[in-house]
Amino acid sequence: MHDLTDRLFDFISASPTAFHGVNTAAKLLSEAGYTRLAEASAWDLVKGGRYYTTRNNSSLIAFRLPDKMPTGFMMTAAHCDSPTFKIKENAQYADAHYTKLSTEGYGGMIMSTWMDRPLSIAGRVIVSTGNGFETRLVDFKEPCAMIPNLAIHMNRSANDGQKYNPAVDMVPVYSLTEGLSVNERAAALAGTAPENVLASDLFLYNTDRGIRWGDYISSPRLDNMQCSFACLEGFLASADSASIPVYALFDNEEVGSLTRQGADSTFLADVLDRIAEQYGADAEKKHQLYAASSMLSCDNAHAVHPNHGEVRDVNHSVYMNEGIVLKYNATQRYATDGISAALFRLVCEEAGVPFQRYANRPDLKGGGTLGNISEAHVSVNTADIGLPQLAMHSAFETAGVKDMEYLIKASRVFYSKSISTHADGSCELV
Ligand code: ZN
Repeated sequence: MHDLTDRLFDFISASPTAFHGVNTAAKLLSEAGYTRLAEASAWDLVKGGRYYTTRNNSSLIAFRLPDKMPTGFMMTAAHCDSPTFKIKENAQYADAHYTKLSTEGYGGMIMSTWMDRPLSIAGRVIVSTGNGFETRLVDFKEPCAMIPNLAIHMNRSANDGQKYNPAVDMVPVYSLTEGLSVNERAAALAGTAPENVLASDLFLYNTDRGIRWGDYISSPRLDNMQCSFACLEGFLASADSASIPVYALFDNEEVGSLTRQGADSTFLADVLDRIAEQYGADAEKKHQLYAASSMLSCDNAHAVHPNHGEVRDVNHSVYMNEGIVLKYNATQRYATDGISAALFRLVCEEAGVPFQRYANRPDLKGGGTLGNISEAHVSVNTADIGLPQLAMHSAFETAGVKDMEYLIKASRVFYSKSISTHADGSCELV
């Protein structure tokens, strides 16, 4: 029997890049009876229908339609990209002894954690069809790259606060058992010859599979495949209601979201608009729908570090296995406010799950996420939440076993609700 943690590890292993993450979610949605819609085709949606669409094959939005004019949208948003190294177009170069990869950092990784571990390559290959092209996912699977540390004998200050130069210290050595180049291997996996490959988007990834140890799990890409997985589980298990449940996965959060498919794009707004129009909603009705909508922006959160308690806010500390994290920030880098926090508390109460409150220490800036960015395009009340974890942006991160189950339960309740709001700020969750 595969328990929940194993299913999470399967989900993460199948998702070494955002393209694969979307593909993994799409498969689960298809198996559950959801129909794929192309953005470039006319949408003829059936009431009661289940659908999803993708943009750039690296962001995805899924939704279910009620029989009658909906009351609003109950949405979650998570990101499916992770800090990594992107392989440049001219992928490799060699001297007499070593073949190396040309890479560029993607997102803010803890560089030291990428060293001395077997790495592999995955992404998409664009294959010529003569007058057009096809996109094919590739995953080398077998380890083929390594970023070696310099031995301590040649670097006596290795333990005194190391500075890493990506152009010097982080250049991977490449070697594949069959002796194929990156382009040859990628083409072979795509089922074509190298000369038919027009372009590619390839990334390094950590090949390790997640492990459970006691009350904890450790795995690559917990930020944010853990929330992506938990929300999808909640979405698929949720009951129909008078509102439209929406599950959104966004690429490019780790580089600021300002891309064609990121949270700082029109993707979500475009999809909601098209759905509303299927019900014959005019501009006036659309305003009403958005006013009675809610979003949970789900991205992992910082648990108190066991050896570095000094960087926490003493009164807003969160711990693994102690509940979903509700994130606050006075400058609204986290979108949570009194209203969205109150709504989320009601959801947690009904789901019977604990929650904890997080805020940065006032002299530390902390990170941003999707909530406030998405709000700028689709203006709905939003709470920033997440699961507590250690070592965020390490190549191998750690989280609690219990918290993911809490998020599955809470998101299931959330998706099954609809809300009505009033001019005086009062609200009912039904
Ligand atoms: Zn994240």
